[in-house]
Amino acid sequence: MSSVRPDSADVIIIGGGHNGLVCAATLARAGQSVLVLEAAEHVGGMAITRRFAEGFKVSAAAHLFNQMPLSLVRDLNLKHHGLAFAATDLPTIGLSPDEAPLRMGDLDALNVRSEADARAYAPFDRRMNRFGKLIHAILASTPPRLGTTLWEDKWALAKMALKLRLLGRKEMRELLRIIGMNAYDLFEDEFQTPVLKGVLGFDAIVGSNFGPRAPGTVLTYLYRRAAEVSADSSTFVQPIGGLGTVTQALARAAEAAGARIRTQAPVARILVENDHASGVLLESGETIVANTVISNVDAKTTFLNLLGTEHLDTGFVRRIDHFRSAGMTAKLHLALAKRPNFTGVKPEWLGGRLVLSPSLNELERAFNPTKYQSVSATPALEITIPTIHDSSLAPTGQHVLSSVVQYVPYSIKGGWQTHRAALTTQLIDLLDQHAPGLRDSVVAAELLTPEDLEKEFRVTGGHWHHGDLAFDQFYMVRPVPGATQYQTPLPGLYLCGASSHPGGGVMGLAGRHAAHRVMSKSP
Ligand SMILES: Cc1cc2nc3c(=O)[nH]c(=O)nc-3n(C[C@H](O)[C@H](O)[C@H](O)COP(=O)(O)OP(=O)(O)OC[C@H]3O[C@@H](n4cnc5c(N)ncnc54)[C@H](O)[C@@H]3O)c2cc1C
Repeated sequence: MSSVRPDSADVIIIGGGHNGLVCAATLARAGQSVLVLEAAEHVGGMAITRRFAEGFKVSAAAHLFNQMPLSLVRDLNLKHHGLAFAATDLPTIGLSPDEAPLRMGDLDALNVRSEADARAYAPFDRRMNRFGKLIHAILASTPPRLGTTLWEDKWALAKMALKLRLLGRKEMRELLRIIGMNAYDLFEDEFQTPVLKGVLGFDAIVGSNFGPRAPGTVLTYLYRRAAEVSADSSTFVQPIGGLGTVTQALARAAEAAGARIRTQAPVARILVENDHASGVLLESGETIVANTVISNVDAKTTFLNLLGTEHLDTGFVRRIDHFRSAGMTAKLHLALAKRPNFTGVKPEWLGGRLVLSPSLNELERAFNPTKYQSVSATPALEITIPTIHDSSLAPTGQHVLSSVVQYVPYSIKGGWQTHRAALTTQLIDLLDQHAPGLRDSVVAAELLTPEDLEKEFRVTGGHWHHGDLAFDQFYMVRPVPGATQYQTPLPGLYLCGASSHPGGGVMGLAGRHAAHRVMSKSP
């Protein structure tokens, strides 16, 4: 009887989200034999394009591309592998029931509303960019260890301190003053125009579990600016064919470098031999062996389900159990029979990013009900109409509306089965107030609550970042002490997804840093 040798690789990557693919491409280019195992039918994780109604396609979770460093796009030759842009420099337009739409950065329009704001905006923007650049240095490197004796960790800490010092005394003091503040207080101090502050506030909290009055929301605002600095983009980009084109290009880059990718290959367990990761067991019963296993899956699932608590000490299990990962962001997709008309929005703005967050108070009010497992009548929205730039996503003359819906809790009183349809109607009615006639043009609608995102993308809590980005789950302690620097308590097992530093967003940095960490440990 002949026995079949199990499949094997130097490195197995569990999950073909964009971070898993970046990690795979980086390791394969360095000569390692890499196998990516993706549970779904296709790679991409929360950055895919898929059909949501007959003839209509949409970027199903992430819909704007603004955070991946240009250097990564170039290094992996993504343009050669099919990445192309339908539109770049998408403007951000603030919508409000009480004010005319405001194009962010349009100082003439701002001057009409408040001369003081028009004077303050450019210096504010420059300062935030300066701080964003400093924070970018944090994103762009593996976090150093605390209490370390290793020279590379000490050097990383020293470099950070030096960069802070180089800001100059005045700017350094200002950064230290604001970094722990809440976005509400900062933007209230700086500006008067409600919709301007509303949009700035939205950028501080999108994808998170905080209202704009929560401490640490200036940090999350600067974090987003930092990612945009590295993407060399203070505005937004729409790839042709949606975000799926980005991850398809990443998959091609990984395969061109020699990585193998298997889809419909859900991993059931991480295997352990002699206290070292030794491979995986697929749900199909197949075993695959490897010296190194890297998980793109969120930290909770990786440790509690795939590895199993029997391989971890109780203190670590408790920390992972407490890693906050309930999502607060939903996604609405509408198939529209005709182009919507948003009141006051110029035709050249319609293909931009429309943010409905009329003021900081409205934003805080939208957050409040989520504490009691319910949704505000007016959640904040980030709306795009991708078909304005890319007609391949819908039948001729018809359109797709894709909206991030901020402040939709993971759990709702009565369950989502009872509330999903009502919230969908409520959101369409809200949009119709700003785009009269939109309601009657809706051909099909899909609302993905955090619970739906969890199921579709296999992410605990359906969380944008796989887990809150907050001071206690940030940088040197992300996701939790004991699993920082992409390493885990189990030798041979690493993390490479959004649960790790620097968190979520289609940035690819967690994947790249994890690959470098693995290479630095390879003999
Ligand atoms: C509603 C919403 C809107 C967003 N909008 C934007 C946006 O506009 N721009 C932006 O930059 N970011 C956006 N984000 C954030 C962004 O989508 C994510 O942070 C990012 O995609 C995470 O990438 P990742 O590779 O770390 O993980 P994921 O994309 O979650 O990939 C993990 C992969 O692991 C696979 N997997 C899980 N379990 C197993 C298993 N047992 N075996 C094998 N495979 C498994 C999953 O199927 C998945 O493919 C948004 C997020 C949400 C929820």
